[in-house]
Amino acid sequence: MRLFLFLDYDGTLVPIAARPAQAVPPPELLQLLQKLVGQDDLRVAVVSGRDLQDLESLLPVPGLYLAACHGAVIKTPGATPYTLIRGADRQQLERLARAAQNLIAGRRGFLVEPKAFSLAFHYRLADPAETAPVLREFLAVRQHHCPAPDWETIPGHKVLEVRPAGVNKGAAVLHLLNQWPGAFPVYIGDDRTDEDAFRALAGRGRTILVADHPRPTAAQECLPRAAVLALLHRLAAGGAFPAAEEFPRSGG
Ligand SMILES: [Mg+2]
Repeated sequence: MRLFLFLDYDGTLVPIAARPAQAVPPPELLQLLQKLVGQDDLRVAVVSGRDLQDLESLLPVPGLYLAACHGAVIKTPGATPYTLIRGADRQQLERLARAAQNLIAGRRGFLVEPKAFSLAFHYRLADPAETAPVLREFLAVRQHHCPAPDWETIPGHKVLEVRPAGVNKGAAVLHLLNQWPGAFPVYIGDDRTDEDAFRALAGRGRTILVADHPRPTAAQECLPRAAVLALLHRLAAGGAFPAAEEFPRSGG
């Protein structure tokens, strides 16, 4: 069977780090991905909110498909990257980035991360007492520079992502899947943004939420993060993708 494996990066392949730059893949993971992409009847895509340059430098694995910026940018092996965005206004994002930088100036623990087609506003290291008012102000400048419904704001793990509406991990996954007719999709991810992919693949493949404790999700199955690499090792060794009943249980 042709299997198209879609993997989120942060929180799925590597643990969530306090700062995005710290989430570096261990050599073991790169070797594992290299093994997987070398298999017949298996394609592997990493689907992430990170931008393409970031993903390419973190994951120098020839043969790996990349869907960067929440699916806005697609890179297939050996081909030139392209975007699925139609007419997004980069200048709006640049204005938002400047306004957000002004907002956090002199405040500790916030980080503005401009990306090619989106902007991430991180607050993982911020003082919890300061977080709520700063987020309110950020949402106000967001509405000014990148207003709904043309733009959407997606909450993640202590991060808000502002991106053009209609571009998401689900759209990217369907786009890649269309390039390999007949393939069976499996999607593994831990984020709110992965829910778009879980919904897009409903009734078409396997969707697996990475979570140590079950939570409301559109995914069919739930897997603790510690079990993800074991599952990939099993696939790399030529094993079949395990049935849901064989999964280790996430805690209650
Ligand atoms: Mg994630």
